Amino acid sequence: MVNFNLDGYVEHCLNRMAVEIGARPAGSRANRAAASFIAGEMKQAGCQVIWQEYPCPDWRATACELTVAGQKIVAVANTYSPPCDIEAELVSVSTAEDLANTDLTNKIAVVHGEITGSSFLPKNFDRNYYVVESQDRFMELLVSSNPMAVITVSHYDSPYPVLVEDSDFTIPSATVSKPTGLMVVQNTGATARLKIDSATEKGAGANIIGRHIGNGGPKILVCAHYDTKPDTPGALDNASGMAALLLLARLLGRPANGRSMEYVAYGGEDSWWPGDALYIEEYPPDNVAAVVNIDGVGLKEAKTAVAFFACPEGLADRVMDMAKSRGEFVAEQWYASDHGFFWPRGIPTLAFTTTGCMDLVGKVAHTENDTPDLLDNRRIEQTAQLVRDIILMLDASLNTSISKSNK
Ligand SMILES: [Zn+2]
Repeated sequence: MVNFNLDGYVEHCLNRMAVEIGARPAGSRANRAAASFIAGEMKQAGCQVIWQEYPCPDWRATACELTVAGQKIVAVANTYSPPCDIEAELVSVSTAEDLANTDLTNKIAVVHGEITGSSFLPKNFDRNYYVVESQDRFMELLVSSNPMAVITVSHYDSPYPVLVEDSDFTIPSATVSKPTGLMVVQNTGATARLKIDSATEKGAGANIIGRHIGNGGPKILVCAHYDTKPDTPGALDNASGMAALLLLARLLGRPANGRSMEYVAYGGEDSWWPGDALYIEEYPPDNVAAVVNIDGVGLKEAKTAVAFFACPEGLADRVMDMAKSRGEFVAEQWYASDHGFFWPRGIPTLAFTTTGCMDLVGKVAHTENDTPDLLDNRRIEQTAQLVRDIILMLDASLNTSISKSNK
């Protein structure tokens, strides 16, 4: 697009999403406001814009109080937890065997140990590509042993991210940090009180799709998610990637050579809500030459990581070579984001994040600390510029290596 000045554009996007709108979990009004902003920006970039909507509960918690043996401790309501005010005895469980041998009726279960090393997958999550069978089995037994409430103990020093985010899990529940959890486990047998004020309304989620429809050749798909966990402004995760995507759309404008571009803003990646799966279902990626996903870029004093999946030989080297002139990029594999829906189908896929991104979860990502002052906007611009370079390069080779490897 001519006359587009990139100065301040990334800041404008970050400010709108991570400051003015803030936490924008799937189904919430804030999520809808972010979607409107993104749709407007895509339109400004000359795209045809499609809202792909799906029902999704709008849940929020206004208070979570946990008292153990008379002492108030910090706990965060698990996403979609129903409200409760329960006083009962604490019973700690950490394995399926524990559950088989313990009666949890009228008790508060404290779930800790290896089993809480990662979040429990919600029931409605598509298990084709990722599944933790031991956790699924544990969850099933936990539900059937019928506790009044559940406290999940994190492996992090913060209760964020919470360990259960499942609208089908109807037992009131909350997450505590690792050190707090230790204290709760030590109080097994004592009485605890859990009070959660929460409300669930009907809501909707949406993927926002921006298109430049070209001459029918294979398209290039660039995606980023715009939703967040509850209670986090989500600057790094992922206003940053969304800003890079929107900047890229402006930088590229309508492709003069007839190439088709598809920009996808996912509305439910962090909410585990199956927005990605619905996108794939409605728009199967049959004629996609390459996918680029951007999730969590631009952290100050950190390098940007590029991961390559199902790419033709030599592509990674060429990209890393191009990256040298754009900023500090390193090649690093990383799986946990929207790109996981594409490369298993054999589509060449690149994913951008911050080096060591999984170590940032619970410290920056998914916490209230994830604010725009942690970001170096220049790094976000560099990512958009590098992705533009890559797309122009792919354009040049679309009739050769990429299209051949796709047949
Ligand atoms: Zn993310």
